[in-house]
Amino acid sequence: MRCAHWHRTPLDLAREALEKSAVPYVDRAVQCQLSAHDDSDHFGLLTDDCTYGTALWLRWHGTDETELVLLPDCPVAAPGPDGDSCCLFVDHAEQHTWEDALEEVSCTG
Ligand SMILES: [Zn+2]
Ligand SMILES: [Zn+2]
Repeated sequence: MRCAHWHRTPLDLAREALEKSAVPYVDRAVQCQLSAHDDSDHFGLLTDDCTYGTALWLRWHGTDETELVLLPDCPVAAPGPDGDSCCLFVDHAEQHTWEDALEEVSCTG
């Protein structure tokens, strides 16, 4: 099950994300992309720059602590010749997105 937490994107961080990436806009609110987890940080995907294999994430904990982080993509793909790649970042907690077989997860959104 995917984590059900959402967070509004703070305006200053949204602006910063736009400056750091080539995308025309960022979502006003993002959902945590991790599988359901305990009291650890939540990570919502802001922009995905496929060219460089990195993405900008909004990391938050509770309601006050939010942070913009640039993270390399998770390199672990599902086994097999046509294995899905993981939509998360390197060294993330919890499962890879392709392990969450019960749910359809789109990388690009
Ligand atoms: Zn979460
Ligand atoms: Zn992964």
